[in-house]
Amino acid sequence: MITTTRLVPMKEMLETAKKEHYAVGQFNINSFQWAEAMLEAAEEEQSPIIVASSDRLVDYLGGFKTIATMINRIVEEKNISVPVALHLDHGKSVERCKEAIDAGYTSVMIDGSHFPIEENIEMTKQVTDYARKYGVSVEAEVGTVGGNEDGLIGGINYADPQECLRLVQETGVDALAAALGSVHGPYQGEPKLGYDVMLEISELTNVPLVLHGGSGIPLHQIHKAIDLGHAKINVNTECLQAWTKAVRQVLDNDKELYDAKAILTPGKEAVKETVKTKIREFKSDQKA
Ligand SMILES: [Zn+2]
Repeated sequence: MITTTRLVPMKEMLETAKKEHYAVGQFNINSFQWAEAMLEAAEEEQSPIIVASSDRLVDYLGGFKTIATMINRIVEEKNISVPVALHLDHGKSVERCKEAIDAGYTSVMIDGSHFPIEENIEMTKQVTDYARKYGVSVEAEVGTVGGNEDGLIGGINYADPQECLRLVQETGVDALAAALGSVHGPYQGEPKLGYDVMLEISELTNVPLVLHGGSGIPLHQIHKAIDLGHAKINVNTECLQAWTKAVRQVLDNDKELYDAKAILTPGKEAVKETVKTKIREFKSDQKA
């Protein structure tokens, strides 16, 4: 456990966002330079931010402790003053969530959505019981987000409002990812979000909703989702696309180039610009 931390849980930032009709962006890191880009963007926009590591990338990034330490140090070195939560995205098991909490994460998602609702609730309850002791916030998922859900490729499975209500009541989660037609990765055509059910779930459960697969959703749909109770929107694909485009351009422009800094810096700037754009689209700028 990290003894000094400037990181905060996401509970309070999301409750305020839901009340004031904006959303806080969750941005997934693919390297620590990405974290720098994201934190600089949030500071410049004076926005709260959720920096996340996807469970499947934790080992690649050096493990839970390395990630928690690095994010804390970057926040400190760069004098980041806006609220920052460090979140585990799509936690695969109760154990993985506990490991993240022990390492200093201030927020975790337990993804029991691929199990029957009984098991999902049971897993989520174990995580909320543990997280509460450390003041860590918890997100759970009901239904299935389409596309590649961290390795599990499948169709869209709309969340059932009564199952959402049961899960929230029995576990006390701080945020709920109710799958309502969004997709991880690029969309084929216009996204079809279930707005009627969205409002119903938001009013029934009264917790901030989380929109997974936030990349590539048209702005009017994003704003409608926010109006209907979404307070957290996850973005990964758009940052990846912007980074890759920038790095590819540098390499294409100079076939002799081998300086890592010269190659990677445009990628970092592209991620930063993308995050700044998303923050303004989600209307969380000047809300820190
Ligand atoms: Zn997701």
